[in-house]
Amino acid sequence: MSASFQKEFNKSLLDKDLLYKFPKIELHRHLEGTFDLDTLYDLSVKNDLDTPRDKAEFKEFCQFPKDHDSDFLLFLGKFHNYWYKSLDDVSKIVFNSVKNIKKEGLHYIELRFSPEHYALVNDFDRLDITKLVIEAADQAARQTDLKIKYILTFNRGKQKADEMIDLYKKVLDLNIDSIVGVDLAGDETNFPPEQFIKFFDFVKNVGIHKIDIHAGEVTDSSQIWTAIDKLHADRIGHGESSIHDEKLQLELIKRQIYLCQCVISNFQTAAWSDTPSHPLPRLFRKNVPVSISSDDPTIQNATLVDDYRTIIKNFDFTFQDLVKINFDTIDASFLSEDQKSTMKEDYSQALDSFIKENS
Ligand SMILES: [Zn+2]
Repeated sequence: MSASFQKEFNKSLLDKDLLYKFPKIELHRHLEGTFDLDTLYDLSVKNDLDTPRDKAEFKEFCQFPKDHDSDFLLFLGKFHNYWYKSLDDVSKIVFNSVKNIKKEGLHYIELRFSPEHYALVNDFDRLDITKLVIEAADQAARQTDLKIKYILTFNRGKQKADEMIDLYKKVLDLNIDSIVGVDLAGDETNFPPEQFIKFFDFVKNVGIHKIDIHAGEVTDSSQIWTAIDKLHADRIGHGESSIHDEKLQLELIKRQIYLCQCVISNFQTAAWSDTPSHPLPRLFRKNVPVSISSDDPTIQNATLVDDYRTIIKNFDFTFQDLVKINFDTIDASFLSEDQKSTMKEDYSQALDSFIKENS
């Protein structure tokens, strides 16, 4: 990569088109937060749901308003799980949503989903849902040449540890090797990580899947300590409160546990309302392992490209910084060591093509 290209690229980094083409690796995005709005609208009409029929109003109903102040309850109010009346509905929304992901320049994604979200209202079989979601997503990924693996999300407020173990045991019987990890999401404040030690001991003992824990997003760093020491977390979702805990930062460096940072999500949920002081650049400069993710782009009314733009604008990130973070993110992934090596070669090629096409 020539120095002149880097200089040129640094100058045009905020160019949205260029950033769309920049190949990206993403590890923290919820399928339920990246739904295709047109498909949601069609499902609403077909299933006669009580949602706005005017398309613009429907969009407002589904998404966090642009330029709105941080507002946790408003953000939370955008998640619904009543869209589906049949398994075909689920299949449709998954296929059409995953088909869009490549357009944001994604090279590889670890996409997480909660079987409970799709199953709850109609009491669909959780295993049927798990198979169906992966089939539909795989099909969309193949058609768009997107490399994809999956993380199963378990929700703090919806399941107890024993119920999680029951479902997890059944999922294991499915033998789906594209599931690479297990995630704990949901209300951190009212359902602290200690309540789920039994489940994650079980996952760790089985030893097939890696562990990703949402922690330290709206709680202090003690939850991150619990996640890494007691829940065997290989990776942390958010973890901004680590900025206040030097000892934890050193431990994250030592164990190479990555924090998947989602700047726009953190602003909207009020987890970190003052974007210019977001911990991401400070952690990155101190070599604490960090990665860039979107979290819930459709709900946020923003793409992963918008996260990149926010980061470049506020933290003076250069082309080299972005390349480094993306290579680091491959290390942070739940791929095997062999798969990581292959992914790095693939990613290098994608990067070379990007540079050639845009020089
Ligand atoms: Zn998340």
